[in-house]
Amino acid sequence: MLNYSIIYIISAPSGTGKSSLIKSFIKNKLLKNITISISYTTRKKRIGEKHGEHYFFISVKEFKEMIKRKFFLEYAIVFGNYYGTTYTSIKNLVSNNTSIILNIDWQGARQVKNKLPNVCSIFIIPPSIKELNNRLYLRGQDSVHVIKNRINQFYNDIKYCKEYNYLIVNDNFELTLKQLKAIIIAEQLKIKYQKNNYLLNQGYLWQE
Ligand code: ADP
Ligand code: 5GP
Repeated sequence: MLNYSIIYIISAPSGTGKSSLIKSFIKNKLLKNITISISYTTRKKRIGEKHGEHYFFISVKEFKEMIKRKFFLEYAIVFGNYYGTTYTSIKNLVSNNTSIILNIDWQGARQVKNKLPNVCSIFIIPPSIKELNNRLYLRGQDSVHVIKNRINQFYNDIKYCKEYNYLIVNDNFELTLKQLKAIIIAEQLKIKYQKNNYLLNQGYLWQE
């Protein structure tokens, strides 16, 4: 049991597979004490999406009111819609020593990194643009216009990968899951966390 929580930011160009990866990661309980934060958005619900499970779907008016009342740890406009993570959605988890996955874009990642300690950021890319295009079409959730917009956006998003700690190429799904798990475990084993979690607890080491 860890006595701290780490915030794992996962960003990727739309259609890369990050939602599927995170869902599979959590569903298969690949690690204990880690969960995903549910964001608020003004985007329309896709077929099969549920309020409170995929997102909290709210109106632009409600979102703006939440901005005004400083509810958001971070928020951004992505593809013309508002998306944001509230302080309350992570506060309870942090006080429980549960680590959290944030599925957010590079704009949100910057804000979180500026506000919180214990952040590990992971950028995921598709193996090629052609494959990204296939995945967006196969997902079958967006119009041709929206897909074209998301492909164009790829060239912008990719520029920000250098601001992240890790990069994964999501070619083989199972391999990507293993790499994600490896990063999460490696992060937990960093001296800065182990110092509090183990060395201090055992009375071996330094009180600075
Ligand atoms: P994102 O959340 O990054 O926008 P999704 O998780 O919705 O992307 O995935 C987009 C599509 O690509 C989905 O149909 C998903 O099943 C598929 N997909 C995800 N990862 C892979 C992979 N490694 N190989 C092939 N298809 C994948
Ligand atoms: P989608 O509409 O495909 O679910 O998500 C579109 C984009 O919005 C993705 O890049 C996703 O990471 C980003 N996103 C989802 N939730 C949030 C959030 O709470 N904050 C920010 N900044 N981006 C988000």
